[in-house]
Amino acid sequence: MSSFKLKVLLTGAAAVGKTSLVQRFIKNRFQANYKLTVGVDILTKDVEFRQGEIATLSIWDIGGQQRFEFIRSTFYKGAAGTLLVFDLTREQTYTEIRKWLTEIRQFAGDIPFVLIGNKADLMEDVGVVIDRDEARAFAESEGSIYIETSAKTGINVDDAFTELTRRIIDSRT
Ligand code: GDP
Ligand code: MG
Repeated sequence: MSSFKLKVLLTGAAAVGKTSLVQRFIKNRFQANYKLTVGVDILTKDVEFRQGEIATLSIWDIGGQQRFEFIRSTFYKGAAGTLLVFDLTREQTYTEIRKWLTEIRQFAGDIPFVLIGNKADLMEDVGVVIDRDEARAFAESEGSIYIETSAKTGINVDDAFTELTRRIIDSRT
């Protein structure tokens, strides 16, 4: 019954938790030690982005091979939106967000994204290493929003995918 079929991407630096977020979202589980993603995994899930309105997401999760141009063009082609993920415990992964956004726009155009600060469960132990207000302001200045998630506890993971889906649909109607 779902009429929307959307290709969505997980983007962001290595080991920020892209694969873990997809696993949590699709299978509701978490593993402390994932194998490195090799190539591209594509997983499908229906999302009720508003009451009674369903979209089928095909979620593309890429490994480190993203640097190869031919894989990259396949990955980005036809993408409707992306979760752009950084790791709340590693500042460098946040600093690289702008580069990611430039690449996304270069290959996929001006698609909706949601900025994700992942590993929220570790913040208590590690302390705050990024300016979360700045992250929020940056997302808003790019017409987006900022959500903090944990693939480990599951907090806000469904919301992140649902919010992205809603933004994609709204950008088209
Ligand atoms: P990817 O390279 O972006 O796909 O990252 P992975 O999903 O492979 O995760 C990298 C590492 O971070 C793995 O050891 C995960 O178990 C861990 N990880 C991912 N998300 C979280 C999270 O929300 N909290 C914690 N504590 N660890 C996480
Ligand atoms: Mg991965």
